[in-house]
Amino acid sequence: MNAENILILLLVILSFDFVFNKVLEFLNIRSMKEELPEEVKGIYDEEKYIKSIAYARANNKFGLLTSTFSFILSFCLLATGFFGWFDYKVHELIGTEELVSLAFFGLLFIVSDIINIPFQIYDTFVIEEKFGFNKTNTKTFILDKLKGYLLAAIVGGLILFVLLKLITTFGPDFWIYFWIVISIFILIMNMFYTSLILPLFNKLTPLEDGELKDAIKTYSKNVNFPLDNIFVIDGSKRSAKSNAFFSGIGKKKKIVLYDTLIENHTKEELVAVLAHEVGHFKKKHIISGYVLSILQTGFTLFIMSLIIFNPAMSSALGGSQLAIHLNLLAFGILYSPISHFVGIFMNMLSRKNEFEADAFAKETYNGKSLQQALKKLSVDNLSNLFPHPAYVFINYSHPPLLKRLDAMKDDNANS
Ligand SMILES: [Zn+2]
Repeated sequence: MNAENILILLLVILSFDFVFNKVLEFLNIRSMKEELPEEVKGIYDEEKYIKSIAYARANNKFGLLTSTFSFILSFCLLATGFFGWFDYKVHELIGTEELVSLAFFGLLFIVSDIINIPFQIYDTFVIEEKFGFNKTNTKTFILDKLKGYLLAAIVGGLILFVLLKLITTFGPDFWIYFWIVISIFILIMNMFYTSLILPLFNKLTPLEDGELKDAIKTYSKNVNFPLDNIFVIDGSKRSAKSNAFFSGIGKKKKIVLYDTLIENHTKEELVAVLAHEVGHFKKKHIISGYVLSILQTGFTLFIMSLIIFNPAMSSALGGSQLAIHLNLLAFGILYSPISHFVGIFMNMLSRKNEFEADAFAKETYNGKSLQQALKKLSVDNLSNLFPHPAYVFINYSHPPLLKRLDAMKDDNANS
């Protein structure tokens, strides 16, 4: 394929992706029901329900604005050969090829992030604020940004540097070596996320002794869950939204609870939420997720190795000669339809896993408490109760609330 056709293909993919997503979002926002439907009485009161619809609409409107802006910008930058010009400018400043690639991505990252800051500010301090979620102050916001940059520079820079080194050293065979490196990296991140990355942004304190801790310990013992420690994270520093998860790939598991979750739920509901998380572990969802993401990475890298040495890709972006960083950028767009398909498959699997984890919590602890907790979470986070099925099929990693409640109810009738 010549450079001109590649450029057209890139622009078509970008446009199709944009239009497709907008149609889905449109369907999704249209499928919301104005008045409080029968099945959600007892979950939402009238006022909260109206608020949840307004929240979804506000997010949708804002999403339309940001995605249209970024689509037009990307389209123009590609069509005008900006990236080739940018590559040329970076070359003028810096001599060595690998440093050029690093500087190229580093500068692109910083510039695109700075362009995004006004949108992030609006989202956090206007939309989330208006609906009572925002707890972030200016200081936390700025510190988060700076820490994020530092982390991206160190981790992203290092990974990119290794990738470029392997490409120049091994040529088309680079993907096997990089696959090994990245698999080990994902494993390490999984193992040390709670002890290394999370403390950079949040304060973790061990859960104090008391009824809740006893209840969690008793449950863990009952189901043979290798509990190491329970932490409370100060999620309330940023948002009123809540969550819970556990981490650790090895023998010992750490459970992390958001302070906002503890505040709004009873002891039984909290144990039920944890029982759901334990279900993911017991049903081997964690390990199979890890294996799948490694296979997926290998596949992506293999496809990448087939096309990133093609000089026509660089020319398509306006480059005057083969530049690996230009080709990586073009690859990112060319590969996006495939990654969407993979993403749909992963979401299907994830939704199936959620049902299994719910069933596990019901079997080993208490379905009623989990239902109660899910309802509360849904109200507190103002979740959309009636998302469009097509939107769910493509974008949802978790089944919508009513489907989950339904699934737990069906079990009840059978047993
Ligand atoms: Zn889950």
